Amino acid sequence: MALIVRRAVSLKTLNSFGIDARAARLIELRESADLPTALALLREHPPALVLGGGSNLLFSRDPPGTVLRVMLGGCRLLCERAGEALVEAAAGENWHAFVDWTLGQGLNGLENLSLIPGSVGAAPVQNVGAYGVEVCERFDSLDAVSLHDGATRRFDAADCGFSYRDSVFRRSAGAQWLITAVRFRLSRTPQLRLDYGELRDELRARGVASPGAHEVAEAVCAIRRRKLPDPAGIGNAGSFFKNPIVERARAERLAEAHPGLPLYPGGSPATAKLSAAWMIERCGWKGYRDGDAGVHERHALVLVNHGHANGAQILALAARIRESVRRRFGIELEPEPVVV
Ligand SMILES: Cc1cc2nc3c(=O)[nH]c(=O)nc-3n(C[C@H](O)[C@H](O)[C@H](O)COP(=O)(O)OP(=O)(O)OC[C@H]3O[C@@H](n4cnc5c(N)ncnc54)[C@H](O)[C@@H]3O)c2cc1C
Repeated sequence: MALIVRRAVSLKTLNSFGIDARAARLIELRESADLPTALALLREHPPALVLGGGSNLLFSRDPPGTVLRVMLGGCRLLCERAGEALVEAAAGENWHAFVDWTLGQGLNGLENLSLIPGSVGAAPVQNVGAYGVEVCERFDSLDAVSLHDGATRRFDAADCGFSYRDSVFRRSAGAQWLITAVRFRLSRTPQLRLDYGELRDELRARGVASPGAHEVAEAVCAIRRRKLPDPAGIGNAGSFFKNPIVERARAERLAEAHPGLPLYPGGSPATAKLSAAWMIERCGWKGYRDGDAGVHERHALVLVNHGHANGAQILALAARIRESVRRRFGIELEPEPVVV
């Protein structure tokens, strides 16, 4: 019996913010053979909330209905041709362990995405990205099952509608899909992406002149360990706000009015990405604390739970930050984590 159903469960250790929400019912899905039973239980006690590693979620209250924790495991090399390999991982695999596995197989392409918390199944949901690479660039396809009627469907990249920290799965049109497995197209030959200055600096500091994928992964891990607060020590969900993408002309006017405002490529020549962290810091929020809800002292973009904050308190702080950025810069910040 692989399907475990628990009642009245605290989710505190199952979300990286450490919010003590309670699930009336929690199903742990470890085997795909148990999917039909799990789906039937979800339909009996709706609505369903799909949970991976809980590292991109904020529980503003107890989730109603049933929480389905996806714990399906396994990764495999499906086929290989002309130096290109197709690999598949089950949705419940830990993302970093999977990246590590691909590197161990001598496959290149995911190294910049090392050490991102969470599961493989959630990676396409917000098109995870770091250090100049987004997962959609290495994505091949995924399998999903409808929470409504159990129908299965294969999504290719076009079906997923990927954009910056977004995909169809974050919108109402895609909310019914439970992702069960994801396939990636990786390469035997290095496809290094070293556009990110911080990554180049780290490699230089390590004395690595011509890096391979392993060295890049190690450098990324070192930067992340140094820079990002570990949820095991202090509750957080990484960046709480997306970097806003606006028309280039507007971004340039803002940068003129606010010297020092960093601008990044926005994905098209007509747009630019603004640094949300810079704007939040300018509004004086870095290191701010209100009870146990706060802004990290080194990262204005990271909202933290110092211990016993609840989701409503974190959300209230986020609303105050959004309001001050709106007033000072005329920019609307959008939260990155999914608010439940
Ligand atoms: C310290 C820290 C650093 C981070 N750094 C980065 C970073 O560099 N780049 C980045 O992009 N993100 C980053 N994140 C955010 C987070 O790691 C990613 O969004 C990750 O993909 C979330 O995975 P998860 O399994 O924890 O998803 P969860 O938090 O469990 O779920 C997130 C969303 O995906 C849905 N979901 C989860 N699994 C499935 C599934 N199998 N099928 C359908 N829907 C599903 C959930 O319902 C929810 O809507 C960071 C988070 C932390 C805490």
